[in-house]
Amino acid sequence: MGAINISNVGKVYPNGTRALEDVNIEINDGEFVVLVGPSGCGKTTLLNCIAGLLDLTDGQIWIEDDNVTWKEPKDRHIGMVFQSYALYPSMTVEKNLSFGLRMMGTAKDLINEKIKKAANLLQINELLKRKPSQLSGGQRQRVAIGRALVRDAKVFLFDEPLSNLDAKLRAELRYEIKKLHRDLSNTMIYVTHDQIEAMTLADRISVMKDGLIQQLDTPKQIYNKPANLFVAGFIGSPSMNFLKAKFDKSNQNIIVGKKQIDISKYENINNLMNDQEVVFGIRPENINIEKNENSIQCKVELVEPMGADTLVWTSVEGNPISIRLEGSSNFNLNDEISISFDINKSSIFDSKSEERI
Ligand code: ATP
Repeated sequence: MGAINISNVGKVYPNGTRALEDVNIEINDGEFVVLVGPSGCGKTTLLNCIAGLLDLTDGQIWIEDDNVTWKEPKDRHIGMVFQSYALYPSMTVEKNLSFGLRMMGTAKDLINEKIKKAANLLQINELLKRKPSQLSGGQRQRVAIGRALVRDAKVFLFDEPLSNLDAKLRAELRYEIKKLHRDLSNTMIYVTHDQIEAMTLADRISVMKDGLIQQLDTPKQIYNKPANLFVAGFIGSPSMNFLKAKFDKSNQNIIVGKKQIDISKYENINNLMNDQEVVFGIRPENINIEKNENSIQCKVELVEPMGADTLVWTSVEGNPISIRLEGSSNFNLNDEISISFDINKSSIFDSKSEERI
């Protein structure tokens, strides 16, 4: 239960804003899919279309064998958790949890049983008699998740549920949500602009921009083989380093300003054409400080100790480059360093199409 098929979905708002364009996602039963992308890319619009809170302009949405495109939200067997909690302020936690079930006329015993189970799972047993105003942000969000849980939904939709919480609580609840998914195995769709949440929670991530899906894949693939420059720059912190370059086929180099970098080990080198304008992308952890026939001389411009890691900033031909090193590394401003790139872990993009080669 709980497989979702989003087919050719488009959404134009009454004022003419096109928020979604030909979105296609097949979500497997029990899968955790995260929708991620910059503000305004259409994440919430897509979630609201799935929930039935917005009508589609084009396309269809199926949940299992049921075409729910024009069904009321209440008939979609969906539980939704919002950023704003949306709890009833005058009701106790217990009443908030039971509200939907009471409206449906569920038997009292069954309601109590479900509340007990959800309260145990979310560790909110002690809070059942309190009102929302007597809870912390993290506790309120647990109640909001509990309210979705008691409804026996096939699918859970989360719209930035953690973005109102501080960093520590966010990490704690992220862990709870991941455990919840492990234990319940429901299909979950989760909207965030936090890439750490996306990477840690998702079975698959859908990276969106301007209403279009840019890449839909596992966190590993998205991180290691970004489909285009946008995805490469959006996922990862600090961002992937980029160098504008031109390919020289005769000696399998790319030319960056006055420097040459041997890319003969690049996985798809055969797809590159002579003189092709490219962008060379390399993650901070795939740069080594070592001298060899391929290394480039540069100077340390900034050092950021981050505990487990140290970030060392330098530049190559005017392009800023960040290098992730062990926390124990000891570099100082203006130190001369030689850097070399793990070419088999790099990504090369065509300058015009911005697609990965
Ligand atoms: P955020 O991360 O800021 O919440 P988002 O990715 O969820 O952004 P949406 O809220 O889905 O983005 O908005 C997508 C586009 O649709 C944006 O250009 C937005 O301005 C527009 N939009 C959203 N709601 C409406 C509305 N009710 N009427 C007109 N345009 C809207």
